[in-house]
Amino acid sequence: MRDLFLHTSAHWGRYSEYVWRTAPDGNCYLLPAEKAKPSVYDPMKDPNTLVFDAIEIGMMQFQKEPEAKLKQAILAFAGKYGLLGIMTALPTTAEFITYEKVYLPKNPFLRKETMETQEYLRLFFPFIRPDFHKKGVESVWQTGDKYEIAFAMTFQADPQAKAMSFMRNYGERYDWLCKLFKDWAFHVLTTKFYLEDRNREDPDVLSLYQRGISAFEGIAPTYHIELRGKPTLVWDFHSLLLDIRFLLSVMLTDEQNPLKLCKKCHKPFIAPNPAEEYCSEACKDATKK
Ligand SMILES: [Zn+2]
Repeated sequence: MRDLFLHTSAHWGRYSEYVWRTAPDGNCYLLPAEKAKPSVYDPMKDPNTLVFDAIEIGMMQFQKEPEAKLKQAILAFAGKYGLLGIMTALPTTAEFITYEKVYLPKNPFLRKETMETQEYLRLFFPFIRPDFHKKGVESVWQTGDKYEIAFAMTFQADPQAKAMSFMRNYGERYDWLCKLFKDWAFHVLTTKFYLEDRNREDPDVLSLYQRGISAFEGIAPTYHIELRGKPTLVWDFHSLLLDIRFLLSVMLTDEQNPLKLCKKCHKPFIAPNPAEEYCSEACKDATKK
């Protein structure tokens, strides 16, 4: 990883187990399991594995894997990394709770440009609403069990919505999760096709790839300066979603060690040099035979 991201405040929460549940609105949601234990970790400790795991779930959709298998893979991902934090990542600011309304830039899920905060929260608390009250820009929120309080304490310097996304009743929609994972894999595939075809004379195809990759936008992480012995640039990721998206962008544009898909097993890997096509000696040997 480039030195630029040496300092981040990217800590994220997860529960030991998640479950799929169908809500009264008919949508399937991923939520923490009833007895699951919480923990906090640093997603930047092993960014490569995190991004690879996310891409593989997206690739499963291109390979038309059955829904049961896909759901199992997303469950395993959540048990390892937690939910994506979509609630915090979608609005124009992670501090949306402190505004009168929620403001939404263009996104694949919600067409409205503004939403009432309570209405927006309902999209992520499909079974039991959080004990949250709002009047103008002021809001009051009651935490529930000891784990929720622990998360609120851990992330008290962060936007309030971040701690709220570790509440037991916070869930993320199956179709939204699928779409995000699929988009990430799409960008890896588009980059791969572009690099393979860029020397061929077919401007229409190339421009198709270029348009595909330019659709990869969204809210950027923020940053601030901290005095840690010296002035230090610290990046703020208030959701795992932004974390993955940003890491993926950095990895795809790395000229020395780009993220690639292995020519043999199709798994993502970080190339030791820009020309490397296989993830391992085993894959290279298997091709020779
Ligand atoms: Zn391989």
